[in-house]
Amino acid sequence: MMGKTHMAVGAAAYAVVVPPPDKPSITELVAWLTGLAVCIIAAIAADVDDPKTYAGKLIMPFIPRWLRPTAFAVVGILAIWHGYNQSNQILMLIGFGFFGAAISRHRNSPTHSPAGLLCACVVVYIYSPMLLIPILTGYSSHLIIDAITEGIPWAWPLPGWFKIPLFKTGGFFDVIVFRYGAVLVFLNQIIGNDISAFF
Ligand SMILES: [Zn+2]
Repeated sequence: MMGKTHMAVGAAAYAVVVPPPDKPSITELVAWLTGLAVCIIAAIAADVDDPKTYAGKLIMPFIPRWLRPTAFAVVGILAIWHGYNQSNQILMLIGFGFFGAAISRHRNSPTHSPAGLLCACVVVYIYSPMLLIPILTGYSSHLIIDAITEGIPWAWPLPGWFKIPLFKTGGFFDVIVFRYGAVLVFLNQIIGNDISAFF
């Protein structure tokens, strides 16, 4: 599916899994919106395996599309090098992720597998346990809707491809049904709840 569809579906999934708080205080509202933002980023994070996608653009906005794979490789090597020197495993893991993204074929990499989901959850959980639900929700939504379009390497690092080809990326169902359907689900979760007073 396309980046914008992933973002819309991620937002809708979050609003369903973590319904907007009723009559929220400012602190509760900020916490909910932070979770929403993390979930939307998680919903496109898997596509960093293709530096040319929306996710690649978000990470390196000023680097032209054709140069991003090289930039990813350089950032990856630097992160591995610094992570190794400082015995920082998380930095090394991120470095391997960037390097892997630069050299692997789109949707054939760990980011589109349950192994990638697990890694993302572990890294985020170490950083802040509160962000586990948003990252799990957003990342899973990406894998599920990619599985019903292009397929995912579900058993990575073992060979194996899981695909139920129900819809086409960029097609009617992607752009109209999933994207706008997700926006409607999201709005439905907001409207009728006192959180709507804030918008
Ligand atoms: Zn994808």
